[in-house]
Amino acid sequence: MANDLFGGLMKGLSGFMPQDDPDVKLMSAQSDLSDLQQQETAIYADIGRQSLAQFKGRFPELESRLQLVQTNIAESQAQLEAVQAEKKQKEQAEQRTEQQCVCPQCGYRNLEGVKFCQECGVKLGVFNCPKCGAVLVPGTRFCGECGAKQEV
Ligand SMILES: [Zn+2]
Ligand SMILES: [Zn+2]
Repeated sequence: MANDLFGGLMKGLSGFMPQDDPDVKLMSAQSDLSDLQQQETAIYADIGRQSLAQFKGRFPELESRLQLVQTNIAESQAQLEAVQAEKKQKEQAEQRTEQQCVCPQCGYRNLEGVKFCQECGVKLGVFNCPKCGAVLVPGTRFCGECGAKQEV
């Protein structure tokens, strides 16, 4: 996919640059080579998967290395998901603080923790969409996240 994009970009560029320029030729040769090498690697991987499916247990050392790597991949994915969840939680907390402080009526940025707008006196605070949990400000009629109608 990315290679097609790069290839297209190269073709687009080569329209503006002289074809016999060594830099252009070098880039194009390098791109061709890495493209072919990636195809080769992908074919080897396919052969590997098919052989493994057919001759399970024939490559004990490689298979145990593969298992180890796959275990590590699973752990790594779990860690990535945990970090993503943490990041989202942090962003939501920041968003919540921001929405708690900024008055939905007049836009005044109040001090953290105040219950009424220090500028216009409107009640401040946020609530969660009962359907999807998105953080909403009082007076919201439809959830911006899932579209659920809110009890105003
Ligand atoms: Zn206000
Ligand atoms: Zn919602």
